[in-house]
Amino acid sequence: MTGKLYIHNSLTRTKQLFEPLNPPFVGMYVCGPTVYNEVHLGNLRTFISFDLIYRWLIASGYKVRYVRNITDVGHLENDADQGEDKISKRARLEQLEPMEIVQKYTNSFHQVLDIFNCLPPSIEPTATGHIVEQIEMTKAILAKGLAYEVNGSVYFDVKKYAEKHPYGILSGRNIDELISGTRDLEGQEEKRNPLDFALWKKASPEHIMRWPSPWGEGFPGWHLECSVMSSKYLGTKFDIHGGGMDLKFPHHECEIAQNCAANDEDPVRYWIHGNMLTLNGKKMSKSEGNFILPRDLLYGTPPLVDKPYSAMAIRFFILQAHYGSTLDISMDALAASEKAYRRLVQAMKELNNLKSGNISTWDVNAWNFECEAAMNDDFNSPVLIAQLFEAVRVINGCKDGSQQLDELSLNFLKKQMHLYMIDVLGLKPEEETSGKLNQLEAVIKLLLDIRKSARDRKDWATSDLIRDELLKAGIIIKDGKEGTTWEIN
Ligand SMILES: [Zn+2]
Repeated sequence: MTGKLYIHNSLTRTKQLFEPLNPPFVGMYVCGPTVYNEVHLGNLRTFISFDLIYRWLIASGYKVRYVRNITDVGHLENDADQGEDKISKRARLEQLEPMEIVQKYTNSFHQVLDIFNCLPPSIEPTATGHIVEQIEMTKAILAKGLAYEVNGSVYFDVKKYAEKHPYGILSGRNIDELISGTRDLEGQEEKRNPLDFALWKKASPEHIMRWPSPWGEGFPGWHLECSVMSSKYLGTKFDIHGGGMDLKFPHHECEIAQNCAANDEDPVRYWIHGNMLTLNGKKMSKSEGNFILPRDLLYGTPPLVDKPYSAMAIRFFILQAHYGSTLDISMDALAASEKAYRRLVQAMKELNNLKSGNISTWDVNAWNFECEAAMNDDFNSPVLIAQLFEAVRVINGCKDGSQQLDELSLNFLKKQMHLYMIDVLGLKPEEETSGKLNQLEAVIKLLLDIRKSARDRKDWATSDLIRDELLKAGIIIKDGKEGTTWEIN
C-alpha cells in the first residue's frame, strides 16, 4: 500500500481514512448506464472518474472487485413511476425489439468506454438477469412490513421505514420537508404517500418487458436492481458505492432504504459521487441545442465542436479537474488541454532517450512522494498532473544540460512516469489508441506517393487536387527540402 488513502465520503460529508472491510480486498459498486441511447458526455466523465479510482486502488495494491451494472429493464420516464418505459419508447422509434435496443446501446457503451481506455469492471451484471433476486428482495421487504401491495404493484412504505431508520441520510433531506414538497401526482393514487416508490410495477397490457411474479405480471422498480446486484456480488455490507451526483436522490437514498429494510444492514461504507459536466458554462440540454456526445468531440462535429480531439486528449482534459468539482467544457479549454497533453507525451518520449549523469540535481523520491500524496488525497488527479509537469520541467532541464539525474534516479523516474501516465491516469500512447492511426498513415503515404509521381510528370492538377482534398479532410501537407510531411489540423 502506498500511504494512507483519504476519501470524501458523501454520507458523512467529510474526508475519511479509507479502511476496507477485508483488506487487501475492496468491493466497489458503480451505477451503470440505462442502455436506451448513446452514453452522454456527463456519464462518460463519471465512468472515467471511477476508472481513475479503480486504477489507483489497484496501483495501491488492493484486490478490487468492481461491479458496474447494465440497466436493461425499461424503467419509466420519471421518478414518480409514471410515463412510458424508456427502452420501449426507443424501440418503437427505431422499430426494433426492446432487447435489440438494449444490445445495440450496450455494445455502443462498451465501445465508447474502450476508446476512452476505461478498464472493464470485474462483473457487469444486468437487471434482466436478476429478476428472480429482485422478486426475492421485494418479498423480504414485504415480510418486514415495510412495503405494501396494491393492484399487482408493490410500493416501499417510506413513512413506516422512517419511523426506525434515517430516510434522507445520504442526501441530507428531511422526510417532512420532502412530503410537503411533493405534489400529489395524477395516477399515483395507489401510493399511500407520494414519497413511496415502486419495488414492483404491474405491467400494463402494452408493456413488452414483463415477468411473472407473486403479484402478477410486471417489472421491477428502478432502484431495486442496484440493491440486489450490489449485495449479491459484494455482500450486504461493502466498501465503496459510486455514481453521478444526480443519482444521490432519489436513487441512492432508495437503495439504502431497500438494503436496510431487507438485510437490516446499512450497505455502503464510503459513498462517492462524481460531479456534473457543463458545456460553455451551461447545463447540457438537447432541447436548447447545448448538447454534445463523446463522438462529436472525436469527429469534430460542428457547430459546437471546432475540430476532432483525440480520446486521450479528452480524457486528459477530464482528469485535469477533480472528480468532485464541476467541470465546464469549452473548445478553448479543450484546445489548451490538448496542447498541455502533447507536451507531456513529448516529454515521455524524450525521457526514454535521456542519458544519466553522475549526480542528481533533483530529488525523484521526494517528487514521487508528492505524486502519491496527491492521489491519496481523495484521488486528486489535477494535483498529480501538476506534479507530472514538474517532471517535464526536469526532463527538459536534463536535455539542455541545466539538470542531471544519476542512473538510479533516472530509472526510477521512467518507471514512475509510466505508472502515473499509463496505469493510473490511463493515458495510453496515441499510436496505440487503435490501429486507425496506422491505417490513416498508410493511406496518406499512398496519396503522397501518387502526388509525387504526378508532380514528377508535371501533372499539377492531380497534385493540387490531392493537396486540396486532404486539406478539406483536415490534413495539412507541407512540401519541404526533405520531402513532403503532413499533420492533422
Ligand atoms: Zn444504481
